[in-house]
Amino acid sequence: MFILDGLPDRPIKGKTPLSIAKKPNLDKIAEIGINGIMDTISPGIRPGSDTSHLALLGYDPYKFYTGRGPIEAAGVGIDLKPGDVAFRANFATVVGSGNIFDKVVVDRRAGRIENTEELIEALNEIDLSVDFEVAKATGHRAVVVFRGELSAELSETDPKVVGEKVKKCKPLSESAKNSAEIVNEFMIKAHEILEKHSLNVEREQKGLSKANAILLRGAGVMKEIPRFEENYGLKLTVVSATALIKGVGKIVGGEVLTPDGATGNKRTDIKAKINSALDSLKRSDVVLLHIKAPDEIGHDRDFEGKVEFIEKLDTHLGKLLELDFSKNCLIVTSDHSTPVRVGEHTADPVVVSVVHEGVRVDEVKNFSEFSAPKGGLCRIRGMDLLNIALDLLDLSKKFGA
Ligand SMILES: [Zn+2]
Repeated sequence: MFILDGLPDRPIKGKTPLSIAKKPNLDKIAEIGINGIMDTISPGIRPGSDTSHLALLGYDPYKFYTGRGPIEAAGVGIDLKPGDVAFRANFATVVGSGNIFDKVVVDRRAGRIENTEELIEALNEIDLSVDFEVAKATGHRAVVVFRGELSAELSETDPKVVGEKVKKCKPLSESAKNSAEIVNEFMIKAHEILEKHSLNVEREQKGLSKANAILLRGAGVMKEIPRFEENYGLKLTVVSATALIKGVGKIVGGEVLTPDGATGNKRTDIKAKINSALDSLKRSDVVLLHIKAPDEIGHDRDFEGKVEFIEKLDTHLGKLLELDFSKNCLIVTSDHSTPVRVGEHTADPVVVSVVHEGVRVDEVKNFSEFSAPKGGLCRIRGMDLLNIALDLLDLSKKFGA
């Protein structure tokens, strides 16, 4: 299952990057496969990358979505248990006097600090009434997980804009009162430790922004999620360099791989990722290969950049066409559209091609938004995709007599 994140687009003057890019391998996949369009969640619903990946793995996101916090936390390697409350976090610079909630955020990224390891180590020493864990994510980002009988119905402490005071965490329900107090206690103690940490003293001397606060957002509680292997009796591997997608792989019990050179942006080593996915087929039944770049380029509203990336990507896809399609099923699709004219995820259905010896090959010969709707798959839902593949591979059980 090859997921090209945010690849499909809306036309500009009748053209999309996919419709004009030179991509002989993607077109070959469309030609030898069955094609269609897919609403990864539901028609008209703009999917997040996390909710749509859950759906593509057969999980109803309305039932199993935990919020972004727990998924990112799992993605950076924290072992989450049901009931754990996780926040996304970022190191920031605050100024002013008093405690953390009297201070004003002047830089939400603390000068784009990268080397936060020592700060995180110090934060993990805080004496708090519950167990908790802080872990590093990319750049200035981190995750914070609180353990115990807590609620995730909590407001954010990140004001999201510079020039505003750090927010107090507020309970969004009566039962979250105690949880909010714990989070606020953490916020105060974290600031005290960070403010006087030697790394920040050093940064100040060098004229760099101090990473003297950690701001929290996106609280979510980890749910009981059945393992992929329990649901399907199949082993799953997810190959991705993006914490959010790795997190989805982790919370459903999959093996998660990030090969050297894979970066989660357009400089990623496509060849290394494809090789890693093909190698994973030796021990896994379902391999989800995720490429983040088209989404990033869509967010940057870069039409030409998307065309260029598609053409570069295509030069590496010959290897996928060498698969034995009597034994394997290849799906090429996306988790959502990220049109360059919008710069955000939209609900426009994605392109999907399925290759297997047994598919009813249709007349579609181009992998594009305009050709795919003419294909034999017609319009499907994300949650049905895996079932369609398992049926083609004769791995499905009959419903009824
Ligand atoms: Zn996405």
